[in-house]
Amino acid sequence: MTVLVYLEHAEGEVDEPSLQALTLARAFSGGGVQAVCARVESTQSPLADLAGHGVETLHVAEGDAFASYAPRAVAEAIVELAGRLEATAVVGPGTERGNEVMAHIGALLDLPVAANCVAATAADGGAEVTRVRWGGSLLEVARLHATTMLLTVQPHTVAVESTTGAAPALETFTPTVSDTAASVRVVDRVGASTGGISLAEAKVVVSGGRGAGSTEGFAVVEELAGLLGAAVGCSRAVTMAGWRPHTDQVGQTGTKIAPDLYIACGISGATQHMAGCKGAKRLLAINSDREAPILASADYAVIGDMHEILPALSAAIRAATPS
Ligand SMILES: Cc1cc2nc3c(=O)[nH]c(=O)nc-3n(C[C@H](O)[C@H](O)[C@H](O)COP(=O)(O)OP(=O)(O)OC[C@H]3O[C@@H](n4cnc5c(N)ncnc54)[C@H](O)[C@@H]3O)c2cc1C
Repeated sequence: MTVLVYLEHAEGEVDEPSLQALTLARAFSGGGVQAVCARVESTQSPLADLAGHGVETLHVAEGDAFASYAPRAVAEAIVELAGRLEATAVVGPGTERGNEVMAHIGALLDLPVAANCVAATAADGGAEVTRVRWGGSLLEVARLHATTMLLTVQPHTVAVESTTGAAPALETFTPTVSDTAASVRVVDRVGASTGGISLAEAKVVVSGGRGAGSTEGFAVVEELAGLLGAAVGCSRAVTMAGWRPHTDQVGQTGTKIAPDLYIACGISGATQHMAGCKGAKRLLAINSDREAPILASADYAVIGDMHEILPALSAAIRAATPS
């Protein structure tokens, strides 16, 4: 069985959800896997991150179409490579981009994509997959049969497991892509408002909800986040009100996070919000309503007004921090 894994990387550094996809793909194949990524514009090679992850060969797609992220071009490259390798399955990270690329592959091959998988085993010439459904409120076990099985891996649900083995062999290839393949591509990047800390990767996230009250109400959230070296997040009520950009939104239709500590302030705990922070190791809820649903999921809670509690917390941290 040949399993091909699509890897995302930033400046040559393979991201965590891609390593998680590799772990699931290895369990599925029962051995080594092949990997593919788009052209690398960096002195750092993704090869360095791949030693001990069971990748036999890393195939790097070269060509002008891969100068920036262009989902259709990446999908066409993977379809070409998967055909050449006679891949049984293509597995990708279940990030926004990973899902986008895999959806294009499904459309190109006219095959189904099993999204948000947390486990996959070979069964009856196909696969038995367990996947997250309904914003994380249930797990579905399903059988997948297709000439090439297409899977994405729900981020932060599969722990990265390394194995023994050296870095993979490197092979570049220049796929034939259609004239319009790169017509949807990244043309500009706007820095996130999280002070350079990636919401998806942050160890600590401080989020505000409707309880913050306004754009200005986030000053107390930003102050605490700054002291903790945390990223700032928010609920959809906040992005809908225009208080914060969508890039800050945690949840089913926002970013999925897995910090060591998630501090949720003035957030009720709707299922769509909790779907994005299920991966948090510890949850501290700060809410004025002791009946708020989020308290059922919280490890710690402070009942009270976030506009009083957050400044008090920040002051205590400052007092305890040697100057
Ligand atoms: C298809 C779909 C997708 C969605 N995707 C997302 C998503 O990705 N992310 C997301 O967040 N939501 C999402 N939602 C919206 C979700 O259902 C909720 O409406 C939203 O999460 C509510 O945001 P909130 O908790 O900030 O506001 P509310 O539910 O209004 O809660 C505000 C909370 O603040 C508390 N509060 C008020 N004042 C204070 C104060 N001064 N101090 C402390 N606490 C205070 C209140 O007690 C309350 O618990 C989605 C909805 C749908 C239908």
